[in-house]
Amino acid sequence: MPRYDFRCRACGSTFELSRPMARSGDPAICPDGHDDTVKLLSTVAVTGGAGGSSAPAARPASGGGGCCGGGCCG
Ligand SMILES: [Zn+2]
Repeated sequence: MPRYDFRCRACGSTFELSRPMARSGDPAICPDGHDDTVKLLSTVAVTGGAGGSSAPAARPASGGGGCCGGGCCG
């Protein structure tokens, strides 16, 4: 059964719960009884969620209207 790390926003403590993966999104209760908790991402390496565009490709040298090639240099 996977374990999930949570952090209590009320008291700031972190705790760990073992629960079925199907219930990984259920709210967790702090050992001190607080229910204002957030699930932490632990052990699983998560990259950026939204797949945005990658780095723009380098433009070719002849961008159009270049001096050499249009006849002005020769
Ligand atoms: Zn707490």
